[in-house]
This record gives sequence, C-alpha cells and structure tokens, in this order.
Amino acid sequence: MSAKSWLTTLACQRVQQLTPYLSARRIGGKGHIFLNANEAPRSEQYQLDCSRLNRYPECQPPEVIAAYAAYAGVTPEQVLVSRGSDEAIELLIRTFCEPGQDEILFCPPTYGMYSISAETCGVGMRTIAPLDNFQPDVPAILQALSVGAPIKVLFFCSPNNPTGTVLERASLLAILDATAGKQIVVVDEAYIEFCPQMSMADLIKDYPHLVITRTLSKGFALAGLRCGFTLANAEVISLLLKVIAPYPIPEPVAQIAAQALSADGLATMRQRVVWLNGLKAELKAQMQQLGCVREIFDDHGNFLLARFDSGSRLFQTMVEHGIILRDFSNKPMLADSVRITIGDEQEMAEVLQVLRRLSEQGVAP
Ligand SMILES: *Cc1c(COP(=O)(O)O)cnc(C)c1O
Repeated sequence: MSAKSWLTTLACQRVQQLTPYLSARRIGGKGHIFLNANEAPRSEQYQLDCSRLNRYPECQPPEVIAAYAAYAGVTPEQVLVSRGSDEAIELLIRTFCEPGQDEILFCPPTYGMYSISAETCGVGMRTIAPLDNFQPDVPAILQALSVGAPIKVLFFCSPNNPTGTVLERASLLAILDATAGKQIVVVDEAYIEFCPQMSMADLIKDYPHLVITRTLSKGFALAGLRCGFTLANAEVISLLLKVIAPYPIPEPVAQIAAQALSADGLATMRQRVVWLNGLKAELKAQMQQLGCVREIFDDHGNFLLARFDSGSRLFQTMVEHGIILRDFSNKPMLADSVRITIGDEQEMAEVLQVLRRLSEQGVAP
C-alpha cells in the first residue's frame, strides 16, 4: 500500500479506521432482479407542489408529524421525523452516548447500522449473542449492564433484520424494568407494517425510556425518499430535537410523506402488505419442499432468510441468473444463510425456478 496522503492522516483516528457500511447498493452486482435490500417491488406516483421551494422547510413538518402520530397511535409530541431511520439511530447515539466513554448494546446477527453509527461517533459497543431461537438472552444482557463501561442505549430490532424474528413482549418488559432510570431501550420496527399487531409502540406511554424507530422505506415502498420516524416520550423527542439538523426534511420529502400517510396512502400500503405477505407465504411453502433448503428462519418481515446446503453456491448461482440476493453466510449463527427480499410474482417465480434446478442437481461434491 502507498503511504497515506497527509489528507488522510489529517482525519481523526476513528475515521481513518472506519470501513464504510457495505449497503446492498454499494455491493451492487449485475442482474435484472434485485432482492438484496428489502425494497418494495414497485413505486407509487405522487404529486409535487414546487411553489414554496424558495423557502426553507419546517424542521418537523406539522402535517407529517400529525399524520404519523395518528397512524402510530401516539401524540404528535411523541414523534420525530428524520432522514430515514438510519439518521434516527445515529441521533440516539449522539444524544445519549459520551464518545470514548459510554457504550451501546445489541445482539448480532442484526441490522448493521447500530455498529456503524457507534463507530463513526466514537462510541463503544457490547454485543450479546441471542438464544438459539434468536430471542435476546435477557439474563446475559442484564449481567452485561452491571459491568464495564456504562451502557447508555440498547438496540433491538423487531422484526429482526435478517432473521425475521419478533421480540417477545415478556423479554422487552423484563429489559424495560431492569433499565428504568438508567438506559434507553430502542426497538427498531422498520418492518412492523408486515406484522402490525406485534408493535411495542403502545408501551411508550408506560416506559419513558422506550424508543421505537420506524421508516417509510419498507412497507410504504419509499426507500428512495429517506424518511424515518422516532416514537418516544416527549422529553426524549425534545432532546433529539436539540441534536438534529435545522432542516433535515426537504420540502418534497414532506409532501410525499404526507401523501403516503393520508387515508388513501395507508390503504395502498395495507394492500401492498397483504400482497407481499401472500407471496412470502407461497415462497416459503414452495421452499419447504425443496432439497437444497435446510432451514427457513422466522418470516415476520418482507423477506425470508434461509439456510441452504451451500449458501455461497446458491448465492453465486442466483447471480449467474441475474438475481441478486444478500449473503449472510459470514455472520454469527448464519452459516450458509441467504436472505431473499419478497418481490413481485414474476421475480418470485424466477427465484423458485433457480432453487428447483439447484435442488434437482443436488449438492456439489
Ligand atoms: C432498512 C432498515 C432500516 C433503514 O431504514 P431507513 O429509514 O431507510 O434509513 C432501519 N432498520 C432496519 C432494521 C432496516 O432493515
């Protein structure tokens, strides 16, 4: 490697050491079917009014806040809108963790942005392996909280990306009781539209240290919009508002978000969820018949994670057919596992065709 340029050595230590997040978009790949980022298969159309683009937007557009509060069953004071829920994750760390001092806790395999955001903020991490059924190991977590550097924020993802597991309410309640007065407990509900009855949002009124993050990227089919939400006690929201940028939500984003959260928008989202959940059930039933599939994980999101005879062979064969999936083979507990986003009928048919062919060929020697 060539000597580092002085520009690089000028950057702070932790930035020099960072490896940028390998998003599905950055990994890329050549194909005609992209089932690697849990995006919706199709977009809706929206209207834009450009008559006020000369003005700065509201920091927290009131119509968007009111609409999301009504949708989520909380009050407007309990809602923050941000540039995707990824920004919410970072805001929570920046608001509650002292760099070089405090730590966050999470349970891999889970979403990659908790560690990325902690690293970019110079905040340490404690990871606790989940149980075999991917539920959090509550005694191990409570033990971790009592030793070492102070843990300020705990992240749980429900449904979990990539295992599809929903956090058991009893586990969350045990964690909330043990952390009262000491820590913030975040539940990332990016996929909650696919199993709305499993939301923990109703607990916000009883637990001031519970924070729920949400997004329009998955169930609402708006990953390109970059719009996410945080639900929490009004005091927590006020603290996040001290840290967030003055104009985080571009005016066109606010307009489109308001349309997506209107009665019509919500009805469209709910129809999409029924459609995709149906396609997911069908894909799962078909996959259960196939020889190359060893195990299918929980199915509460818009994706299926499955363990195959050979994960890398399956991933590579799909690439050869122009189908890009997400390989999790190198993650803890997920050897030979690949995640398939639920796409439309045609996309699922092509995936199944390749899976069938692989099953007929059997395992390569
Ligand atoms: C996709 C995803 C997000 C990111 O949401 P954005 O609003 O697009 O930033 C957050 N959490 C989980 C678990 C996700 O899978």
